[in-house]
Amino acid sequence: MNGDGMGLREYINDIVEAVVTTAKGMRITARYGVDAKEEVTQQYPEVRREPEERFRGFLRNDIARCTSCTMCVKVCPVDCISLESVRGADKKMVLVSYDINIGRCMYCGLCVEVCPPKSLTHTAGYEMAMFERGEMVLHFVQEEGGEIKARVAKQVAEAAAKAAEAAKAAEAAKAAEAAKPAEAAKPVGLPAANPAPKEDLSAEAPGGSKADPEKKA
Ligand code: SF4
Ligand code: SF4
Repeated sequence: MNGDGMGLREYINDIVEAVVTTAKGMRITARYGVDAKEEVTQQYPEVRREPEERFRGFLRNDIARCTSCTMCVKVCPVDCISLESVRGADKKMVLVSYDINIGRCMYCGLCVEVCPPKSLTHTAGYEMAMFERGEMVLHFVQEEGGEIKARVAKQVAEAAAKAAEAAKAAEAAKAAEAAKPAEAAKPVGLPAANPAPKEDLSAEAPGGSKADPEKKA
């Protein structure tokens, strides 16, 4: 068979396939169109579907529990999480900012999986509208970053001053201990010079009465 014959047969097969596929689709459409029980369209927003339990909606970070470990930042495939933190007086990290660009997020859930204290979670939220792209960045730390840094720096300085003061006091106590007089180191526990006199057992007669010395003579 030549190439033209093959081409014509393929052409006809394609037409038949297109007709059959369209007929199948129209059959399904017609069924949903006439049968009220087959209704699938919901009248959103009047009717809202409850998300499933494990639905991955907008992200939320409970910043009180977040340890600023940056694991979520590192694991995110599209770099939509950013955070800044500073070390506090107790050596723990303090969040200065924590932002998620939900316009870029693809809701893969990797950041939630890796979060050690589970402070990062998916909510059931999926409705949000804004006019500017910049508004799609969620800011989880409300306090101004400069204020947080200043407050933490003050706490760190105070803690350092306290530690220096305590070290100084400890040093002074140690020096005072070393300068104590030598007699403090004398041995103790020597026997008493005048032991207590022995009790006069003859003073009392057997039976509890006193012995009469004249009677004895
Ligand atoms: S859900 Fe995925 S894409 Fe969205 S912030 Fe987390 S890791 Fe990034
Ligand atoms: S992984 Fe969790 S604890 Fe670590 S920085 Fe992200 S949200 Fe915070």
